[in-house]
Amino acid sequence: MMVQSPYIQIGIQFEKAIEFSLNEEYTLPSGSILNGRCIVQMKGNGLLLKNGSGEHSINSGTELKPLNKAEGTFTLHGVTIGINFHWERKEDQTFKGSLKLLIEDKKISAINILPLEDYLLSVISSEMSATSSLELLKAHAVISRSWLLAQIQKNKEIEEKSESYVSMQQDEHEHIKWYDREDHANFDVCADDHCQRYQGITRSSTKHVEQAIGATRGEVLVYDGDICDARFSKCCGGKVEVFEKVWEPVNHPYLQSFLDSDTELSDYSLDLVKEDAAQFWITGQPDAFCNTSDKSVLSQVLNDYDQETNDFYRWKQTYSQDELSQLVRERSGIDFGLISDLVPVERGDSGRLIKLKVIGDKRAMVIGKELEIRKTLSTSHLYSSAFVIEKEEKDGQLYFNLLGAGWGHGVGLCQIGAAVMGAKGYDYKAILNHYFRGATLNKRY
Ligand SMILES: [Zn+2]
Ligand SMILES: [Zn+2]
Repeated sequence: MMVQSPYIQIGIQFEKAIEFSLNEEYTLPSGSILNGRCIVQMKGNGLLLKNGSGEHSINSGTELKPLNKAEGTFTLHGVTIGINFHWERKEDQTFKGSLKLLIEDKKISAINILPLEDYLLSVISSEMSATSSLELLKAHAVISRSWLLAQIQKNKEIEEKSESYVSMQQDEHEHIKWYDREDHANFDVCADDHCQRYQGITRSSTKHVEQAIGATRGEVLVYDGDICDARFSKCCGGKVEVFEKVWEPVNHPYLQSFLDSDTELSDYSLDLVKEDAAQFWITGQPDAFCNTSDKSVLSQVLNDYDQETNDFYRWKQTYSQDELSQLVRERSGIDFGLISDLVPVERGDSGRLIKLKVIGDKRAMVIGKELEIRKTLSTSHLYSSAFVIEKEEKDGQLYFNLLGAGWGHGVGLCQIGAAVMGAKGYDYKAILNHYFRGATLNKRY
């Protein structure tokens, strides 16, 4: 059993040059003490750091450590958040702990290193709203902690096997890709939605969040002795997806598919891998925890910029044939010509498309998995890949209506569903039992 909180490394910024401010005194391995505004650029195989104190040549991988561990914070200037999302913007962000600078893919990566429990306080504060119920926050603290420790473990295993992580299968007929550990060789997690949204300590934490983290300190979900890779997304769409349909083909018994509800549904066939059932489900309004428009509940899990979105349970996106053809060409880099059809090939248990055939007058190809489909069919990301395609002819033009369900990959905990459960009085153990079946709680430190 670990006694102390482990440390975590988070990749925050990736630029040719990085500007930052050290808000207290920080030390370099050389013993130099730095404070205030800095800029770091690449110089040969190393880095050149300029500061009021002068210029310092440092190695790639150098860690700037706060002189007074408990107090040190630094600010990264112009961090891009929500990369490729409709709300992408730049802001200054302040972090607690150390700053590691290293060269990766001809850019400088700024990596924050701090105790995992401190990191959790930040992510839960920025992921969730201050109005969230304590039980929802506790459930989130446990899954975030479990997921992080599982990623650290997974990266270690990939490193030990010294094989690169495979996340693609491709030939001339199929392009199947998933997005998971593929580009995180030098840190544990990134700061974007890809891993877990992390914006430093700029968003102040509340007593509520501190209480939830403290009450569950060191607590993780465990299955068969291993820490669970506890996933979560915004809204499952009524039925939860299984892990291997979205990521690598590995079965996790605690990440199964089930109705996001405590009651049975008699009006629907739940075998959503079947096209008919998926059509009926996605174009319907089945009862589920996450089928809610209760603003007080939604504001618990959605930040201000996420509340710009309120049609997440069932949504619609329309493209003309020309728009769709151009979009897919730009997003995939594949020229299909004029696209005449989108044909579902394979669906996951939540109705999410795992494989989709794109048919154009120049070529046809099957694309997948769910995130690749979402990226290909949108200038940012479609809400989800659980959609059906309706073709419509208007004024001599062909239109594609994508009618969809849910927001995100839909695996594991459904954040909106969990918020509703919390509001209905379920405690965090019941929420975790609902979403991670067969997993148990275990205190690791
Ligand atoms: Zn990531
Ligand atoms: Zn749900």
